[in-house]
Amino acid sequence: MKTALVGIGKIAVDQHVPAIADSAEWELAATVSRHGSVDGVEAFTDMGKMLQARPDIRVVSLCLPPVPRFAYAMQALEAGRHVMLEKPPGATLAECHALDAAARAAGLTLYATWHSRHADMVGAAKSWLSDKMLRALRVTWKEDVRRWHPGQAWIWEPGGLGVFDPGINALSIVTEILPAQIHVTGATLEVPSNCQTPIAAEIAFHHPDGADVSAVFDWRQQGDQTWEIEAVTDSGTLTLRDGGAVMEVDGTVSGQAAPLGGEYPRLYAQMAQLVTTGGIDMDLRPLTLVTDALALGRRVATDPFED
Ligand code: NAP
Repeated sequence: MKTALVGIGKIAVDQHVPAIADSAEWELAATVSRHGSVDGVEAFTDMGKMLQARPDIRVVSLCLPPVPRFAYAMQALEAGRHVMLEKPPGATLAECHALDAAARAAGLTLYATWHSRHADMVGAAKSWLSDKMLRALRVTWKEDVRRWHPGQAWIWEPGGLGVFDPGINALSIVTEILPAQIHVTGATLEVPSNCQTPIAAEIAFHHPDGADVSAVFDWRQQGDQTWEIEAVTDSGTLTLRDGGAVMEVDGTVSGQAAPLGGEYPRLYAQMAQLVTTGGIDMDLRPLTLVTDALALGRRVATDPFED
């Protein structure tokens, strides 16, 4: 299948281009980006021109930041193309619902990807938790924003999500592995005085069985980086580490630390499957938790952020 990659920036270069190159199912047939390109691949700077010039490309994969993504996604759907969305699938829930409706009306595939759900041990964690009674779950997602998002101004602008940009990855795992649905009951958001989005957040959730569920996200972490989910149950404790690559259950460790290892090849395999079967996969639960945390969160001003 031929795909066009749109928004040639950090994640496109780091993950999408190699995942497509290594796949027997996919061919990178064009790029659309105002500044970026990929060696040996036809490059466009305008989405409309690519859609018009390349009717043979049936799939468009969008790697833009969330705010500009909707217009590009709708343009692709209106041109009859299947669409794959980087996370988060949009800046708001309403625009995601609009894309979903447009894809359904046109009989096209739409895939809201959540790469962290494809980390090596997430499936095993889901299976282990499926017959346990949850007592408590604690998410700790602490990383250095300067290391992972150098010079990215959009993350501090409205719709850029701030620390929820990585935090939503944790929430995509939590919503995948927990059998029960959770929702946000409160949050504290630390917002740098010169930014529009939080640099740190504490979130409390309601769990239907009364389990104590909470999350702490922090973008000011120096040294070791922490991407961990600990679930305490009636029959043992499960810890997912390294963003879901490693799992520990009562002292037994499985998996190897490899950030993002295998996640993007699995996303493209899933997209191929969805296109073949005419499926739509728009699970909006992680984005719902984030928008609710932003709606309910008490904002606390903190030190200005300088990149
Ligand atoms: P990025 O490098 O800052 O941006 C990607 C590209 O999007 C840019 O190079 C730019 O290309 C284009 N772009 C930016 N603003 C635009 C605008 N207003 N209108 C049109 N195009 C625009 O961001 P990224 O880190 O790749 O992240 C992109 C998405 O991937 C985000 O939703 C993020 O959450 C997700 N993601 C990122 C990572 C990561 O490690 N960085 C990991 C997983 C997922 P041109 O200037 O050439 O048009």
